[in-house]
Amino acid sequence: MIEARQNILPVYNPPGELFVRGEGARLFTESGDTYLDFIAGIAVNGLGHAHPEMVRALQEQAGKLWHTSNMFRIADGETLAAKICTGSFADRVFFTNSGTESIECALKAARKYHWANGDEDRYEIITFSGAFHGRSLAAINAGGNPAYLEGFGPPMPGFTHIEFGDHDALRAAVSNKTAAILIEPVQGEGGVRALPEACLSGLRALCDETGALLIYDEVQCGMGRTGKLFAHEWAADAAPDIMAVAKGIGGGFPFGACLMTEAVGRVMQPGSHGSTYGGNPLAMAVGNVVWDIVSDEAFLENVRGVSSVLAQGLKSLADSHPDKVEGLTGKGLLTGIRLRFAPKPLQNACRERRLLVGAAGQNVLRLAPPLIITDADVREAVAVMDDALKDDAIGS
Ligand SMILES: *Cc1c(COP(=O)(O)O)cnc(C)c1O
Repeated sequence: MIEARQNILPVYNPPGELFVRGEGARLFTESGDTYLDFIAGIAVNGLGHAHPEMVRALQEQAGKLWHTSNMFRIADGETLAAKICTGSFADRVFFTNSGTESIECALKAARKYHWANGDEDRYEIITFSGAFHGRSLAAINAGGNPAYLEGFGPPMPGFTHIEFGDHDALRAAVSNKTAAILIEPVQGEGGVRALPEACLSGLRALCDETGALLIYDEVQCGMGRTGKLFAHEWAADAAPDIMAVAKGIGGGFPFGACLMTEAVGRVMQPGSHGSTYGGNPLAMAVGNVVWDIVSDEAFLENVRGVSSVLAQGLKSLADSHPDKVEGLTGKGLLTGIRLRFAPKPLQNACRERRLLVGAAGQNVLRLAPPLIITDADVREAVAVMDDALKDDAIGS
């Protein structure tokens, strides 16, 4: 008997379930089992599964035009870029196919900015422990996670890693060689750690003082996930120069964007960067729908509301299981339970109870549900986690 997955590169290790359909916050297997989805394709399906407006936009576009490449203008892309620039710090947008590519564009733009301003030696990028910026060679070097670098050749020059939260080390590391500081306002993979708002403002001030650019990686924490359109908007005077976005911006259609100010964007001239697929008509048709819904202040207010219901539920779990729960972490609907043990057994126990959750860092159970979840969905998820935490086999 041939194992059906034998030809898939074994870099993932998924469980046996095969999902064939989704609706809102729920996923269904072929045999009709229903799962409550509190990970949403890793913070991607912000509007849940099979959102009717997204489905309609994609189907309509599929019958009209799929692809022309960026040799030609793409009307929906121009429209979406205009909306993004009206609704954020940005003046220029480059569309990509993924978060990693948005990071690549951000790193290249930062270096080119200084080069174009006559500062050729200013190419170093400062990043932080626990960071995750994607899986390309530049992105793993930016992230600095030894496990992701192992076996892939010598470390790339031009990346400096600082301990998350070590202000003195950061100050000492910034020099006239620093092109940019790259940071996730809320770390995703690294353990769902939110940077204090004052630190974001402090980073902006430090960059203004030293001439380094500030790059945010909001691939995971952006697009409404924390209850603001972008996570850095919780902080005052903390706008970046460049920002990488993906995941939630496509709601499940794979695309990303690199946003930047005019001062940076003006150095990226024809020939400096490109992508065959980036911003293609299918992606842009879906992207406009997602943006219109998620950028609506009333929608974001709802996200903040259900976030606080979830926070209360998680607090009650922490109170009921002090022997297993060390604390809570994260922000809005990118949140986590810090456990006194590795998260995998609890994640599996939840899945056996038909609740899908994620893991992050060494000991965090990660929750990133669709932004459209209801209070009742939250109660259901909390009840499942409570039941799983009661299992004596978990964490002992
Ligand atoms: C997922 C992620 C990336 C990489 O995005 P891909 O679409 O997987 O390439 C980069 N940064 C952060 C913060 C992410 O969560």
